[in-house]
Amino acid sequence: MDIEIITVGTELLLGDTLDTNSHFLSKELKNLGFNIYKKVTVGDNTDRLYKEIKEGLEKVDMIITTGGLGPTNDDLTKETAIRVFEQEVVLHKESYDRLVDYFEGREEALEGNTKQACFPESATVLRNDHGTAPGAILEKSGKYIAVLPGPPAEMQPMYENQLKPILEEKADSIIYSESLSIGRLGEWEMAKKVQDILENYSNPTVAPYAKKEGVILKITAKAADKEQALAMIQP
Ligand code: ATP
Repeated sequence: MDIEIITVGTELLLGDTLDTNSHFLSKELKNLGFNIYKKVTVGDNTDRLYKEIKEGLEKVDMIITTGGLGPTNDDLTKETAIRVFEQEVVLHKESYDRLVDYFEGREEALEGNTKQACFPESATVLRNDHGTAPGAILEKSGKYIAVLPGPPAEMQPMYENQLKPILEEKADSIIYSESLSIGRLGEWEMAKKVQDILENYSNPTVAPYAKKEGVILKITAKAADKEQALAMIQP
């Protein structure tokens, strides 16, 4: 399954906030054996986000977004994703009841936040145990958009407890790497000796890296389980 990660937020583009969400998701998705086709950051701009999601879905099976799920006018991720799929929204009772509990009779605040409880009927809503904005998995014609909140303290547990178990069911392989330290050779000399492998192997893939401690070859296999991956890496 090919996945694109879109992190949403002008503050990410301006360098005010470091995008740690895509780093977290890349590592997690790689371990589940998914192919991260592309990672991109888009500002709080619905037209650009619409274009990125629409074009992205022509190439990947699933887009995962983080950010832009809050109650304000510039929080447009969910609405934009729904617009791409041309779906209607209804009030999701369980999410609305959670908002009612959260705002405890503060009617104006409840009204201002109600859009966070609106989802297409076919969506799988992901509860937010650490904030007010639920996430969701939207689906249309075998393509998926998962929208997750921006704050890592909300996004990570939502991924871990709710999205990951669903993805695990779709995963049919794992990605596993071993690193081989090369003692005396420089990166270029080492690459020359294994040029054929670097150019022609696709599973496992072999990549040279120059680290502070010296040169390494990172060998990465995609396989049904770790045992099979190790057997492919060994030779
Ligand atoms: P909220 O419900 O808090 O409004 P949201 O889903 O609308 O959440 P944003 O408003 O986009 O999320 O971001 C809220 C905060 O989360 C940001 O100010 C930033 O601190 C953090 N954040 C957002 N995106 C990222 C990211 N990609 N990496 C790390 N932190 C992020």
